Amino acid sequence: MRRNYIEQTVNKCPHCTSIDIIGYGSAKGSRRFKCKNCNKTFTEYTGTWLANLKRRDVVDKYVELMLQEKSLNKIKSELEINKKTAFDWRHKILSSIENQGNTSCFLGITESDETFFLQSEKGSCDLDRKSRKRGGSAKKHGINNEQVAVVVTCDRNQEIDLTVATLGRITKNNLEKILGSRVDQNTILCTDSHITYKGFALDHNLEHHSLKANLKQHVKDKVYHIQHINSIDSRLKPWVNNHFHGVSTKFLQNYMNWFRLKETTKKSKEVVLEFYTKSIQDSKAWLRFKNIPNRYKSLVNLLPTPD
Ligand SMILES: [Zn+2]
Repeated sequence: MRRNYIEQTVNKCPHCTSIDIIGYGSAKGSRRFKCKNCNKTFTEYTGTWLANLKRRDVVDKYVELMLQEKSLNKIKSELEINKKTAFDWRHKILSSIENQGNTSCFLGITESDETFFLQSEKGSCDLDRKSRKRGGSAKKHGINNEQVAVVVTCDRNQEIDLTVATLGRITKNNLEKILGSRVDQNTILCTDSHITYKGFALDHNLEHHSLKANLKQHVKDKVYHIQHINSIDSRLKPWVNNHFHGVSTKFLQNYMNWFRLKETTKKSKEVVLEFYTKSIQDSKAWLRFKNIPNRYKSLVNLLPTPD
């Protein structure tokens, strides 16, 4: 087995984060450990996207093909795994990059706007095929609950966040949840003239520049604009709608995670390795993957999101 990437250092318990752990033999080819604090055992893969994977021998190749954005059919035939497995792996992996390095505050001029995707129930059975029902992109006028709002935020230091917020128009609560902990006195907010952003900026005492698109105001004082967001959107929409033929709303956040990864690793030469090293350390990935159906239910019923 080629294990150049997946060998990893284990230094804390994934259950209670204690560092008081000891080696405890092996289990199904993985190293096993025992935590002296909570007494639970675990392996180097517990909680990560590699937990319970039967074909670990092909994961290196899988990640490579996935990051090259090969289709599920291509991956299926190249690795001789079935298509459902290829699809599940994609989402286990994408579940592991959700909050990567995603906790610092936006610095300086920070653009934020909502973008919409039509709600789609294209299931995992349809996989890469074109959605029969809805899907695709939505124009900004006539927002209704068949449209899924994604809040896109970026500063000019390459920090990007794309979060599935709600159905229909975003509220101040949505913004609070997504951006509340990521702004401070160094954040200068740039948005359209949407009232929600005004309220949010006021609550946080932020310097706020809103652009009046209806008056064709695109740039203010040469620096305040949301053109980076518009440009992100012009890459995001075709990627989701043409490359994947639209995606199921259930998995939309995962594709946002993927897009964010693409945007932030553009200049890196070692994307696969970098990705691997980071994703494998996320011991909440498995749980997040398992939670996808519940998160979707919360979204369509507009209930509070489970953690
Ligand atoms: Zn423990």
